[in-house]
Parts: sequence; C-alpha cells; structure tokens
Amino acid sequence: MKIASVRCVEYTGTLDHPEEFWEERLIRPVDIYPRFRSEGPPHLPRSGERSYRVESLFVHVEADSGVVGTAGPITREQAQHILTSMAPLLLGQDPLATEQRWDQLHRYCVHGRKGTEMMAISALDCALWDLKGRHFDVPVHVLLGGPVRDEIPAYASALGYSLDPDRVRERAAQLVGEGYTAMKWFPRHGPADGRGGMAKNEELVRTLRETVGPDVDIMVDAWMSWDVPYTLRMAQRLVDYAPHWIEEPVQPDRIDSYAQITAQIDNRIMITGGEHEYTRWGQHQLMRSRALHLTQPDTYWAGGISELLKIAALASTYDVKLIPHGHSVPANANLSFALPVALTPMLEYLVKWNALHQFFLAHPVHPVGGVVTPPTRPGLGMDLDEDKIEGRRELHPA
Ligand SMILES: [Mg+2]
Repeated sequence: MKIASVRCVEYTGTLDHPEEFWEERLIRPVDIYPRFRSEGPPHLPRSGERSYRVESLFVHVEADSGVVGTAGPITREQAQHILTSMAPLLLGQDPLATEQRWDQLHRYCVHGRKGTEMMAISALDCALWDLKGRHFDVPVHVLLGGPVRDEIPAYASALGYSLDPDRVRERAAQLVGEGYTAMKWFPRHGPADGRGGMAKNEELVRTLRETVGPDVDIMVDAWMSWDVPYTLRMAQRLVDYAPHWIEEPVQPDRIDSYAQITAQIDNRIMITGGEHEYTRWGQHQLMRSRALHLTQPDTYWAGGISELLKIAALASTYDVKLIPHGHSVPANANLSFALPVALTPMLEYLVKWNALHQFFLAHPVHPVGGVVTPPTRPGLGMDLDEDKIEGRRELHPA
C-alpha cells in the first residue's frame, strides 16, 4: 500500500448559539504588558443573530487502496508545512509504517523539533493512525493494546466561561449535575495584577469549593503566566480550598523554575505542565529535572500518537502521570484507553472548545455522566458529517 494523496481542506458551517460564545479568555504570559492586558476574549465571527460561522481545516491522507485517514482541525500554518515540505516525503510511501514516516519527517525537518512544524508532523501522524485503524477496521486503542478499562473519568475544562462569581456558581453546579467529578478553571490574574488580582484568583477558587463541596476536584490553569514567588504565594492562599493541581505556572523553558515550585509547593497540591513541550526529548527534560508531578503533552502538538506512546513510557519510569492536553478528544480517548490506569487517571474535556473543535465530526466523543467509554469507530473515528458542511475549499502550497 502506498500514500496516493495528502490534501488540506477547509470546511465551513454554522453553529447555532444565541449567547456570546467566548465570555472570557485565559491569562497569557504577554499580559504583563498593559497593551495586551486590556484585550478581551477571542473574536468568533457571527453568521446571524443566533449563530456563528465555523471554519475548520482538516488534513486527509489517502492510500492507493482508497482508505483515507483524517486529522484536524489544524491551523493554516500547519497546513502550509504539510503541503510544502511534508507531503512530498509521504507520497508513494507505506502509510502503515508510521514509525518510518515519523522518523523521516523528524530527520528531514531539522528546524521543526518544536512549534508549528512539529504540530504539522503530529497531525500527519494522527491522520496515518486514523488510516491504519480504518485499514484494519478497528479503533486505534485496539491496535495499541487497549482497552485497559471500561471507562475513563473526564474532567471539565471551563475555558471561555465568565468568571463572574454568580456565573461561576451556576456553571460549576451544572457541571457537577452532569456527572463531572473534577473541573479546571482559568484564573485571570497574575504577577502584574498585584494583591488585588491574588484576591480575585482566591475568590474564584473559594467560590468553586463552596459550590461543588468537598468531593469534587478543582484544578487551576495559570497558562504559563505566573512566576515562582507568585505561584508559591498563590498556593499558600489556595491550599485551604484543596486545589488538585496548579497547571503551567511558568513559561515552558523555565524548567528550573518549575522544579523549584514543585520542590517547594505544599505537598497537598500537584504541579502540572508540559502542554507546550514537544517530543520525548523535550518532555524528558521536564521529567529528569523533577519539574512536575503530571505532564500534559498534546497529541496534536507534541508528536502525534507515535510520539505520545514514547512520552508515556518515559513518564511511567519517572512516576510522572500523563493526561494528554484536551485538544483532540477522539485521539486522546484512543490513546488513553491504551495507557496504564495509574499513569492516565483522567481525560481532559474542554467544554466550549469541543463544541467548535468537534463540530464537523460525524461521531464526536463527548463524556456522558462525566465519563468516556472506549471508542468503537475504526481508526480515530474522524469521519466528517456531510450535513454540517456548507462549503469546502482545498488549500494549495503557497
Ligand atoms: Mg492548560
């Protein structure tokens, strides 16, 4: 079998959503500058008073047998890397030899060890695994030795939700009502916002704990935007509300800062990160520096299914837990059902993000009663829903 074509296609459709979609944004490292701090949530174009226009780009890898593997949504930058430098390396090659495909892409793209090029390699690897599963007519977790269990608890990530205390109470209670036993929120304040910001962050976590009671895990994501003293002081203020973890307290390259936080933080709080780190080599730096208790590589960024398996093996030897960043639930669910239970205790589910991200999927993976069950579709289950597609446009090399 040979790869016959690699195509990137942008699909458009309409999401019915009367209310404002993005109510709030996360804190960013650049927010220490006033000109960025005042920016609001991302803009999503409206297609009508009660609806939004959704645009998603997918990569399709087709074999000469007619089997197609799909991955996405991806960005235009990823698509350009795929179309200009990567597609020529894939055409005519064996799509089932995923190790060889990955190694050749990695050796060829010598500047692509991290960032957008590695994200493009990751998407191609996911498309190839989707193709492989379809070829053998089984879900990818079966090819990887799963399922290791009947269900995985999902945690709800509240990215994009308003942080107004009344709205937080309403949403947190709603998530508990839906069966979630863990939820992650995104405090909006950091070192540039002084003690007033710290009080606001504390108010968020206090509100959550008062709402969900003692038995639901609460996590906070600082999205790389705090620093060592801020994180340690914030942890002191939060510890009585029993946060399960503090995520990405500092920028990814500040590994010593991570390690300092992890060594000094109250032992009732875990430090997590690795969402913006790439490949086994990048992740290994975090692990051997004892920088975190739990790593969150993104399957679609850190190297794909092929590379996440290697990162998972590394993590298990360091006794670091691994929960893939919640970018693509179908890929993460397939991977997580093939990883040891103690290594991967939960699955991340970004509630708002997935309404957009899985919009075009015919068989989206959503938690029911707070848990996800083993995927049953062949491959990664990436069939698109023709009824949702209003327009399509194929991209070509720039
Ligand atoms: Mg995160």
